[in-house]
Amino acid sequence: MPADPADATDATDVADLHAHSNASDGTDSPAELVRAAAEAGLAVVALTDHDTTRGWAEAEAALARHEGLRLVRGAEISCVWEGVSLHLLAYLFDPGHQELADEMATALDDRVPRAKAIVVKLAAAGYPITWELVLTQLQDGATVGRPHIADTLVAAGVVPDRTAAFDTLLHDGSEFFVGHYYVDAVRAVRLVREAGGVPVFAHPAAAKRGRTVGEDAIAAMAAAGLAGLEVDHRDNPPEARTRLRALAAELDLLVTGASDYHGSGKENRLGENTTDPAVVDALLAQAGSPTAVLTA
Ligand code: AMP
Ligand code: ZN
Ligand code: FE
Ligand code: FE
Repeated sequence: MPADPADATDATDVADLHAHSNASDGTDSPAELVRAAAEAGLAVVALTDHDTTRGWAEAEAALARHEGLRLVRGAEISCVWEGVSLHLLAYLFDPGHQELADEMATALDDRVPRAKAIVVKLAAAGYPITWELVLTQLQDGATVGRPHIADTLVAAGVVPDRTAAFDTLLHDGSEFFVGHYYVDAVRAVRLVREAGGVPVFAHPAAAKRGRTVGEDAIAAMAAAGLAGLEVDHRDNPPEARTRLRALAAELDLLVTGASDYHGSGKENRLGENTTDPAVVDALLAQAGSPTAVLTA
């Protein structure tokens, strides 16, 4: 426990702006995520499921049981820049904005044939997996992703956990990898802004996941309205963080930090990286709707 009262005050401001529920590939329900955020002592948590807003209502309803916790409704949009895939965190946008909703729906829908194609490749190589088995690993209507294929392989005893599945069979460079529809990154930034939202580039230097984009991509996204860079994320190596911080200063972008919590599906712990309260305020001030941030 902090001895200094000033530290205790800081602890009440802890913000984690990147977390997944089982509306996509996290393992907690949206309500469980909200409870876990409160138990972790967070003051602000963002729900950012992949290509979907379907967890929002449940998370919002759960908020009433956790006074003082603020919920930032968001999503993590699957994007692409010159053939390299990247993730865009979008906060506080209007889910009724048609063009943005259409782009997210296209990415969401295309994940189904894509996941089926990965399953077909794995089955052809002799792995004990079928599409029906994968469907037993996710909630009805959840965004399907490689983590659910990983869970299927874990259930079949092929690998011990999701990480082993990604390391061996499901990584971007694997012979079993298949891509899906990704929204053009610059277009996504523009659409999020048009929808009153605030776009932040997620884990920009997460090299272990595959190729990453260069400064030209970040500059183009900044020119289109990018608000910030998620610098403090476990997948950004230390030297890359230094470079990203300098770039953020140069391009007038905010610097965020977050956990990318996925429940028990990943080691990432809520609050392991956080965003400065002043930066949270600056991000929220950019949202189109003043009622966008929910409190109990
Ligand atoms: P997909 O969305 O289907 O392309 O799969 C990517 C998702 O898998 C991202 O949300 C990652 O967080 C998750 N992921 C990547 N590597 C791992 C890993 N080693 N263990 C668990 N989840 C991972
Ligand atoms: Zn994920
Ligand atoms: Fe991501
Ligand atoms: Fe994520």
